[in-house]
Amino acid sequence: MIDTHCHLTFPDYEGRVDEELRLAREAGVHTVITVATGVPNGLQTVALAQQHDRLFATTGVHPLHAHEGPHDWALMIETAKHPKCVAFGELGLDNHYDAEHRPVQHAVLDQQLEAIAGSGMDLPIVVHCREAFDELIPILQKTGIPGSRFVFHCFTAGPREMEMLLAFGAWASFTGVVTYKNAKDVQEAAAMVPEGRIMVETDAPFLTPKPHRGVRPNAPRFVPYIARSLAQLRGVDQTPFERTLDANATRFFRLPA
Ligand SMILES: [Zn+2]
Repeated sequence: MIDTHCHLTFPDYEGRVDEELRLAREAGVHTVITVATGVPNGLQTVALAQQHDRLFATTGVHPLHAHEGPHDWALMIETAKHPKCVAFGELGLDNHYDAEHRPVQHAVLDQQLEAIAGSGMDLPIVVHCREAFDELIPILQKTGIPGSRFVFHCFTAGPREMEMLLAFGAWASFTGVVTYKNAKDVQEAAAMVPEGRIMVETDAPFLTPKPHRGVRPNAPRFVPYIARSLAQLRGVDQTPFERTLDANATRFFRLPA
């Protein structure tokens, strides 16, 4: 399987990345994408990805780090040209935390999307959208970038937001949240996604899936539990569904075979 979103440059994994990737492989997770939360972090994710065959990277500014500017957009674009960098992001809006920096989140999102659209590069884009669907989708639409280039990572909203996401043409990715008993809305939304537009991720070090919910940090080796949970709630067999998820991630992120 492929873990399409985690943060292996975070301090939780210092000196332990080899071990985590080994444990992941043993659990059948052969490929991992480590996602950036800032432009300097994008340099780190790419450097780490260079050290491991089936590890890939992204570059971009997370909304909760938007206030840590100024951001070097030219450097972000340069980083994105590296063969191990497979996407922009994660970028977007977060209305759950960080109320004092909302205007900065918006300004940085606009600058970032302009840099991406202006670069002429057609890499996919990883979106962080927390309680912000009504605001964010029109902003993404205005860029002219097709909806099919965006994945809304860690989908934790409900059916209404999923309808908006699907109408926009984007992809949806699910974390361990979908395995939690109290996440009925997320589960209902997960059943709505067409088979060709769904992906899985751990978002490690956060959100460890059941039955390991108490384990910290979360890690790529746990992604099969999320796939199993999704297969169950969608009423499909796990093995073919895992193959579909892998094929989807390979196609969306254009990963080498
Ligand atoms: Zn993330």
